[in-house]
Amino acid sequence: MRKISDWGNYPVIEADVAGFDSVDELRKKLQRPGNVIAFGNGRSYGDASLQEKILLTRRFRKFLSFDSATGTLCCQAGTLLSEILEVFGPRGWFLPVTPGTKQITVGGAIGADVHGKNHHVDGSFGQHILTMDVMRTDGSVVTCSPTENADFYKVTIGGMGLTGIILNATFRLKKIETAYIREETVRAANLEEIMDCFEASSNWTYSVAWIDCLAKGDSMGRSIMMRGEHATEAELVDAKQKAAPLVPKRGLSLGVPINFPNFALNPLTMKAFNFAYYNKCRPGTHRHIVDYNSFFYPLDAIDDWNRIYGKRGFTQYQFVIPLEAGREGMRKVLTRITESGLGSFLAVLKLFGEQESFMSFPMAGYTLALDFPISHKAMELFKELDAMVADYGGRLYLAKDSRMDAAMFEKTYPNASEFKQIVSMLNEGETRFASLQSKRIGITD
Ligand SMILES: Cc1cc2nc3c(=O)[nH]c(=O)nc-3n(C[C@H](O)[C@H](O)[C@H](O)COP(=O)(O)OP(=O)(O)OC[C@H]3O[C@@H](n4cnc5c(N)ncnc54)[C@H](O)[C@@H]3O)c2cc1C
Repeated sequence: MRKISDWGNYPVIEADVAGFDSVDELRKKLQRPGNVIAFGNGRSYGDASLQEKILLTRRFRKFLSFDSATGTLCCQAGTLLSEILEVFGPRGWFLPVTPGTKQITVGGAIGADVHGKNHHVDGSFGQHILTMDVMRTDGSVVTCSPTENADFYKVTIGGMGLTGIILNATFRLKKIETAYIREETVRAANLEEIMDCFEASSNWTYSVAWIDCLAKGDSMGRSIMMRGEHATEAELVDAKQKAAPLVPKRGLSLGVPINFPNFALNPLTMKAFNFAYYNKCRPGTHRHIVDYNSFFYPLDAIDDWNRIYGKRGFTQYQFVIPLEAGREGMRKVLTRITESGLGSFLAVLKLFGEQESFMSFPMAGYTLALDFPISHKAMELFKELDAMVADYGGRLYLAKDSRMDAAMFEKTYPNASEFKQIVSMLNEGETRFASLQSKRIGITD
């Protein structure tokens, strides 16, 4: 038994944790009866990969094949996105979709069907999976794709590990000329301006905004948008960049050696941070060439940054509100968050495109993600926010959640009941795929 948690360090549990190196070893481990769940790299925030028995996938991380003509890669599911970039980045290939950290596994990317800054153009990670092999509780392996065992494929993408253990996946990488992004930053004075800016930026491949969730009144929603395109070789100006166009700059890697005391993050320190960050960007539009690590993964430069929230841990409240209700809904939820003064400095706003999938989080509309240190007050606030999000037809992201209740899940995920029946049918033996989250939100008993 050992202590384990996901990224928010809430909850922390004692679990029977084991890894595996081969398909046979995994099959044997699945013969032990009880509840079990796959754990990728624990970058979901809550309890989605926690359970009394945990199967770590990280040792299962070989590259199985690569077609350099098409960029088609097949790898084991414990491979990190950072390991893919390390090997294939210098050869001119990039991920089709990447979240704000590259420290996640391919299995975790499919399980949560993660999205990136290009969702409005390229959809979610799962939509790029050509085929995958998944082990069920009885040790059988199902190969599935949009045309083979298509129903099983559909529920495994975004299925939060509840349909089986993904063993390997095949998907196509994207050709790039350089490891750099042609970035534009745009400062927006309030929520209306940043939403106008998103709507005017739909032709950019990547777009995201950092939003100050402590600013009130006319400044509520003041933000900085970052939008970008992969830079061509001709667009590089710096001699060092030109000399090695496919090698991203190696930034400093800083660490947080200890858990911060709980008083370190208070409204004053957060306000000061937000003020400084916002004013660092001058009004108007600015152009830069930045390496892909700085553009996509600024937080990865600080190892263990989750420790700044102290021992009590934190959670991320990420919701989406459909486009029709977007402006009004976002204004209402944001007003309540700013009034509470509880949100932290890390708030990210994004406009999603259309998404057609069975269990995935995105829908055409605005999504906001905001970190909160765990506290009784924050938990009370979330209940109010949940009611607003549900009333506007939105939902919460399972990968970030550690506290939503079953009623909220059922109300906001249109396929919740059907998914519950499918998982129960797949879990027919004595071994069952279930997480603390799936129990809490009523998918499993
Ligand atoms: C700094 C930071 C930024 C982030 N930014 C984004 C973002 O921009 N967009 C976004 O979508 N997400 C984002 N996330 C969330 C993260 O991408 C997801 O939670 C992702 O699922 C984590 O993958 P993991 O490998 O760590 O898996 P875990 O967190 O360990 O597991 C996640 C889920 O996948 C399942 N799973 C893992 N491996 C397998 C497998 N082999 N077979 C079956 N199921 C499996 C687990 O059971 C669990 O349900 C961010 C997280 C952090 C910490």
